[in-house]
Amino acid sequence: MVNSRRRDFDHKKRIVVKVGSSTISHGTGKLNYRRMEHLVRELADLQNQGKEMILVSSGATNAGMAPLNLDQRPRSIREKQALAAVGQGVLMHTYERLFREYGQVVGQVLLTRMDSQDRSKFMHSRNALLTMIDMGIIPIINENDVVAVDEYKIGDNDTLSAMVSGLVDANLLILLSDIDGLYTDNPRTHAEAKIISYVDNIDKHIYDIAGDAGSAMGTGGMYTKIQAAAIATAADVDMVIASGSEDDIVSRICAGEDVGTLFKAKETPLHSKKRWLVSGSKATGKLLVDKGCRDAILEKGSSLLPVGITGVEGFFEEGDIVSVVYDGLTIAKGISNYGSVHINAIKGRRSADIADILGHNGIFDEVIHRDNLVVMY
Ligand code: GLU
Repeated sequence: MVNSRRRDFDHKKRIVVKVGSSTISHGTGKLNYRRMEHLVRELADLQNQGKEMILVSSGATNAGMAPLNLDQRPRSIREKQALAAVGQGVLMHTYERLFREYGQVVGQVLLTRMDSQDRSKFMHSRNALLTMIDMGIIPIINENDVVAVDEYKIGDNDTLSAMVSGLVDANLLILLSDIDGLYTDNPRTHAEAKIISYVDNIDKHIYDIAGDAGSAMGTGGMYTKIQAAAIATAADVDMVIASGSEDDIVSRICAGEDVGTLFKAKETPLHSKKRWLVSGSKATGKLLVDKGCRDAILEKGSSLLPVGITGVEGFFEEGDIVSVVYDGLTIAKGISNYGSVHINAIKGRRSADIADILGHNGIFDEVIHRDNLVVMY
C-alpha cells in the first residue's frame, strides 16, 4: 500500500462506470436529475472522444418509490421486485432521454447470476455486450431485480460491475459512490482518517479498514467495493473508487488525476477460462487451507494439493467452483477435481495416498490444478 502513484489512463479505452443509488437519487428516493444529467453529459463526451463507455446503474428499486407514492423502501422481497419493475422503466426512460440529447444511443441490459454462471451463458452475454459496444451503443446495465432472488441474485452492483468489467475486457472500472475513496479509518467517525490513493495488494488489512462503512440508500458498503476490486483486479482491470458528487469526476479520473483510491490490476493476463472463473462464477463451497498451502499458491504458483487442506465447507461435486480460504479470506477460486465428500477423506494427506484412500476415484494428484486456479489476493 503506497500513497500517490502516477496514473496513466490515456490509453484506457473501454471504461465501466458504476453509479450507486445514493449518487443518482435524493434521500427521499426521488431521482437527482442534476447529478444524472451531469453524469450523462460526461459519459457522452468521453464516448465522443473515442472511449467505449459502459454504465452500471443502481437505483431501480428507489426510482419505483415515487410513482407508487411510497416514502420508504418496502420490506418484502415481492414488493421490492414490483418496485424494481416500475423503477427500472423510470430509470431507463430518464437515461435514454438524457443520452439522446447528447446524441448517444443506449441499450438496457439486465443480468442475473445465471447469465454468467456457466460458460455458454457467459459467452452469450459477452457477445451481446461486445456487439453493442462495437455498434457504438452505450450499454446501461443493472441486475434483473424483478426475477433475481435468492441464489440467482448477485446482490449488489459493486460486484455486478466488477463481473461486467471482466465480461467485456474493460480497461478501467470506476465506482462512483457517496464516499470518495478508501480511508485509513472510517472517516464518518474518525476525523484524522486519510484517503488511501493507491492499493496494489488487497490483503486482510484492506478488508479490515473497509469495515462496514456504507449508506442507507445503497446496497453495498465499502466491503463490497473491496470484493469488487478483488474480482476486477484479478481480471486485469484497474479500479477506482471516487465520489459521485464531485464535478467532472469521470473525465478527471480518465485524465489521470490522482483522486479517489486506485486498485491496481494484477499484471499477468488471464486467458478466457480464468476470466470467467473470476468474473462470472459463484463458488459452491470453500476449501480452508493452511499457511504452507497459502504460500505455495500465492508465492510459488503451485496447484492446490490435499495435504494443505484443513477443512471443507458446503456440499459440492467434482467440476464445481470453490473458493480457497486462508485465515477467513478468499485467496483463490478454482475448479475442483474432487467433490466435497472425497476431499473430506483426503484432506491433510499426501497426493501419493489418494489412490489408496479413494480407490478408482482417486485419479488426480491435485485438488485444483494450477490451470484451473485464479489467485484473488
Ligand atoms: N440493483 C439494485 C437497484 O437497482 C441496486 C443494487 C445496489 O445498490 O448495489 O435497485
